[in-house]
Amino acid sequence: MRPRIKAEHCPARFGDGWLRIGGKVFGIAADLRDPDGAVWALLELLDGTRTVDQVIADLVHRFPGRAAGEIRADIEQLSELGYVEDADEPACTALSSRQRERYERGRLLNRWVDRTPRGSSWDFQIRLSRARVVVVGLGGVGCTAALALAQSGVGRLHCVDHDVVELSNLNRQVLYGERDLGQPKAEVAVAKLRAVNSDIEVTGEPTRIEHPAALRSLAAACDVLVMSADQPAELWSWANRACARTRTAWVHGAYRGPQADMGLYRPGAGPCYECARAADQDRAALRPPVAEWRAVPMGPRVHAANAVTAGMVGNLVAHAVLSLLTGSPRLRVNCQYGFNLVTLDHNFVTVLDRSHPECRTCAVAS
Ligand SMILES: [Zn+2]
Repeated sequence: MRPRIKAEHCPARFGDGWLRIGGKVFGIAADLRDPDGAVWALLELLDGTRTVDQVIADLVHRFPGRAAGEIRADIEQLSELGYVEDADEPACTALSSRQRERYERGRLLNRWVDRTPRGSSWDFQIRLSRARVVVVGLGGVGCTAALALAQSGVGRLHCVDHDVVELSNLNRQVLYGERDLGQPKAEVAVAKLRAVNSDIEVTGEPTRIEHPAALRSLAAACDVLVMSADQPAELWSWANRACARTRTAWVHGAYRGPQADMGLYRPGAGPCYECARAADQDRAALRPPVAEWRAVPMGPRVHAANAVTAGMVGNLVAHAVLSLLTGSPRLRVNCQYGFNLVTLDHNFVTVLDRSHPECRTCAVAS
């Protein structure tokens, strides 16, 4: 191995005995104490032209007080933190030259974000190419999520929706156009996604999910299940139970007007979706009764949304799926995130520290 600091993580030295590695992005960068300049010298030597032994020998020559074992441990720690790559990385044979050209920009982004030591900078892409994802619901969220996953190179993508394309869909559902009006969404979406990326396998079905068993079979056939539909009302609870049974990671995404919500779960990694719902009910029970406003007839209930809100949620969902499939970035799982598009600075994460005592899904799983 010829260790090299990743180009995106190039260090900066502040002159006060501290330096920063990892660039300027919070969550990636780290500050290191370096009173005598030895850490900076080590980082300079990690330029991909030397083996680990040569780096150690050169640094000991410049800083005789440094022990070789200590320097080796520092190099290993920098590698474990994801700041170092191998300049002698073997050529990637698991992907074709066409795939490598297609996904090169994604590889660069992943190399930047990734904090996991990998044998190859293409590891992320190889994992995606072998992954299976099911998207249930091809509305505003599902369209954007499916498109992002297809563009990102998820190897097998299965799309589920029973509806047909309507004019009122076209302000936000990016897989459809005017010529698709009246056509089955699953059929149109599959054709569009195949046209976007013919290197992956895209399938679809016009199934209406009317019972939990339908979700169990879908969950059993994939690595991550995306819930981008919200009807019937029990759908997400069904998904939670189905994925707990099959040990399948899953993601839900929805918008509440200008609030973009996304949750991601890995069964066995913490409190589940139904735990969160039960905790919500506990909190509501402690509050004074809320009088509902009934003065204005509401008419048929449809979701307020545009291409921005739907696209934001859909891309957050796709981001969560990529994280679950590859571990990059290492997003916190078994929690829900909310993003306020009115202020852009009022975001939140909802997380429980333990399973709800009355959650039957967690009780069965344990
Ligand atoms: Zn639970």
